[in-house]
Amino acid sequence: MLVVLAIQSCSGGNPEPPTTPSRDAPVVIVGAGLTGLTLAYELNKAGINSLLLEAAPRLGGRVQTITFADGATAEAHMEEFFERSPAVALLRELNLPLSEDVAHSSVRLDGRIHPYQGEGARDTYLAGIFNEEERAAFLRWNTKAWNLYSQLHASHEAGTPLTPELDALMHINFAEFIARDELPHKVSEWIRVTLEPEIAIEWDKISALDGLDEMRLFLDSPEGFGEKNYHVLGGNTLFTEGLAAHLRPGQLMTQARVTAIEQTDSGVKVRVLQDDRQFLDITGRMVVVTVPVNVLGRIQFSPSLSREKWRAIQTTRMGSYVKVHFRVAPEASPLWEVNGENVLTLLSDSPAGSIYDVTDLQEDEQEPRDRVLTLLLHARFARDVMNLPVDEMREKSAEALDNLFPGIRQHIRSAEIFVYPQAVAYWPLELGRSRFDALANELRRPQGRLYIGGDTTENSHSEGAVIAGLRIARQIIERRGELRERVDSPRAAAR
Ligand SMILES: Cc1cc2nc3c(=O)[nH]c(=O)nc-3n(C[C@H](O)[C@H](O)[C@H](O)COP(=O)(O)OP(=O)(O)OC[C@H]3O[C@@H](n4cnc5c(N)ncnc54)[C@H](O)[C@@H]3O)c2cc1C
Repeated sequence: MLVVLAIQSCSGGNPEPPTTPSRDAPVVIVGAGLTGLTLAYELNKAGINSLLLEAAPRLGGRVQTITFADGATAEAHMEEFFERSPAVALLRELNLPLSEDVAHSSVRLDGRIHPYQGEGARDTYLAGIFNEEERAAFLRWNTKAWNLYSQLHASHEAGTPLTPELDALMHINFAEFIARDELPHKVSEWIRVTLEPEIAIEWDKISALDGLDEMRLFLDSPEGFGEKNYHVLGGNTLFTEGLAAHLRPGQLMTQARVTAIEQTDSGVKVRVLQDDRQFLDITGRMVVVTVPVNVLGRIQFSPSLSREKWRAIQTTRMGSYVKVHFRVAPEASPLWEVNGENVLTLLSDSPAGSIYDVTDLQEDEQEPRDRVLTLLLHARFARDVMNLPVDEMREKSAEALDNLFPGIRQHIRSAEIFVYPQAVAYWPLELGRSRFDALANELRRPQGRLYIGGDTTENSHSEGAVIAGLRIARQIIERRGELRERVDSPRAAAR
């Protein structure tokens, strides 16, 4: 069944009754994930109407909070938003309750856990991991990395060509870039173990430039040691729901899978398979496709996407994640303490992946309740298990967790597992790619009345989704004059 969500009007008044979505809108948005919802929200603010078409029965895409039978929540997909992401400004604009945390975590290097120290104080944190010589080497590397990142950021923002030094970093892999500095082993391991969970792929698969862009989250900068990160208290789904609450009635269709997009001289025609059985034709003046690159090939485009755009799409790859949520008896919590301190979040660089204790992110403070430990298995750790039956995944993950915190296994009460072979984008160096290359820029350029957006056109995070949504909103607002024309021939529209 086609689901039309009853949502509040822009004025924030009482919910209005469900309205049948129009079959014509100035802007048609394909996908109601964070990108599509950000775009619709921004266009609404500018007084431009849009229609969101979402294939799934729910909105939010890769933002999805799940609720257990006892009311505890966990994130099936994305966890945290980082400070410099424009997502954080939107979260604040929507007045959502946020929990704030420091950028860094406890970390396990060469089999030894270094508990987090310092409440954000750089030198205390570093002293908990490195000796003096290692610390000095890290800080020298940090200065170089931050300078390069700052130049990259400035050039990307301004749309100016990369300097020869930055351009060269598109052609070597990040691991090689680190090796060139002959850093002490522990420092380079720290960089690897910090980076890989973010990108869901190994550090030697991406360009040095893309690696620097990612490491920004953890570098010491004039603004502080790494970027704070945020969760929405009660679940990240409140973010996408908060954006959707500002849509007008009838602005969103769920169970509406777009199968074909045609551009005409004066508009666009979008074919939708509704409820897996009925085709509908929607017309508009512009269309924005926000689906991830790995499923773009499921949509027919007429005229076809440019050869460069297809090359960009086909040479972007997706890294893998597996998420395992263990419900653990509350009395087990001393097992993940070192000297009385909870060592979670822990980047473990083991088959247990990165381990979060998400119990503290619950809205209510019901005690004692099962602890919810979320394991985010990335890259090789995800690939090693993702094709196994979930029983085996659960056993292997429990064993990996027990290796870190001996005895915990007997306290595990249940597990829920989510598998994402195609989780977030990366740009493989072996195919000559970088997120900053000419092909990436080409994919971000409109083709006539068609825009392609989404996190996979930008980076490996929700930040990319919001950046794409905001950028395309700006570009459409600049072209608002073209939105007034109507598609001439209804017959053509029905084809
Ligand atoms: C396990 C996991 C952990 C993550 N952790 C983090 C994190 O901690 N921090 C962070 O910043 N980011 C994280 N991310 C990334 C983050 O979730 C994404 O960057 C973001 O949610 C992408 O939003 P989007 O709207 O671009 O894409 P999506 O959320 O994928 O939305 C695209 C939408 O398009 C719909 N769609 C697809 N095909 C069609 C079609 N033909 N017709 C109509 N609709 C269609 C889909 O159903 C979907 O709803 C994580 C991702 C995963 C998978």
